[in-house]
Amino acid sequence: MDRIFNFSAGPAALPLEVLQQAQAELVNWRGSGMSVMEMSHRGKEYMSIQAEAEADLRELLGIPASYKVLFLQGGASLQFAMVPMNLLRGKASADYLNTGEWSKKAIKEAKKYGAVNVVATSEERNFSYAPAPSQWKLDPNAAYVHITQNETIGGVEIFGAPDTGSVPLVSDMSSMILSQPVDVSKYGLIYAGAQKNIGPAGLTIVIVREDLLGQTVAGTPTMMDYQIQADNDSMYNTPPTYAVYIAGLVFKLLKTMGGLTAMEQVNRAKARILYDVLDASSLFSSPVAKENRSLMNIPFTLKNPQLDDEFLKGAKARGMIQLKGHRSVGGMRASIYNALPVEGVQALADYMKQFEKTQA
Ligand SMILES: *Cc1c(COP(=O)(O)O)cnc(C)c1O
Repeated sequence: MDRIFNFSAGPAALPLEVLQQAQAELVNWRGSGMSVMEMSHRGKEYMSIQAEAEADLRELLGIPASYKVLFLQGGASLQFAMVPMNLLRGKASADYLNTGEWSKKAIKEAKKYGAVNVVATSEERNFSYAPAPSQWKLDPNAAYVHITQNETIGGVEIFGAPDTGSVPLVSDMSSMILSQPVDVSKYGLIYAGAQKNIGPAGLTIVIVREDLLGQTVAGTPTMMDYQIQADNDSMYNTPPTYAVYIAGLVFKLLKTMGGLTAMEQVNRAKARILYDVLDASSLFSSPVAKENRSLMNIPFTLKNPQLDDEFLKGAKARGMIQLKGHRSVGGMRASIYNALPVEGVQALADYMKQFEKTQA
């Protein structure tokens, strides 16, 4: 099996078991005589696939019955618009925490629909930390408070749900959903593009508290109205059927692996391997404040950026790809989502230590 260790931030590695199962079922899904790609989304086979995916996701995340689960398209980026369109609910403004590139994009889009109050920002320190909730200037009349739970580019993660009182908390969980348990009841809305830690690109998951639905701004397109999507079980039009199927296989696998509590243990151990190397090194370093170090995306820099290319070349020769940092940050970034095996993380750590020795 000539698989490589793929540290891509997204689309990202998928579990080999899932790919193999999809391969086995590709041309004939469980005796149906057809591929999932060929099924009517209104047929009983596909309906069962989507219903089971939803049930498994509800079980994994412990989603309360008062929340809707939506399988949408358009990526997390479309949610930057759908959130204000649906959740402003006649209020004048929304609160946003600015912790990096994805926060900035969400803020920019929300400004098209209402006033945005930035409650705190870490821009002055190059987005290397998340301002503590005690520093936020929350507006009690805000429609909602938006946070980016894990900044995929900066590698800055907020652990747990900040208390926003009676103002609904909205979180972009694109790059950390399913990496650890989440108390969904603390949130008004959670959204995530699938291509980081769930499945293929093309699927976006929204988990939303029912009482927030049905008050869209005038002119909201039908497809962008959560209420309409919820009323139609995410089948107002054709859903991304194959992506939902693969996501469903991932959910099943996570359940057999012990669910999100077990995933958190594995993910903490994996991240620890890399952060330990970074902390002990005089060549590599992490730019991120310790309390916000992401379990999923680990940016790091080399003391001398002129070594970047050599480092990347050596990594590739050892079967490790996609380690180049985002163009806005530079350096390296290792994305170590659920599907990136611990062996891959260990291989990277070993290579970093070896590389440092050759530079001594
Ligand atoms: C990747 C990413 C996005 C954008 O996702 P698309 O599905 O490409 O629109 C938004 N937010 C975060 C945190 C991301 O990691």
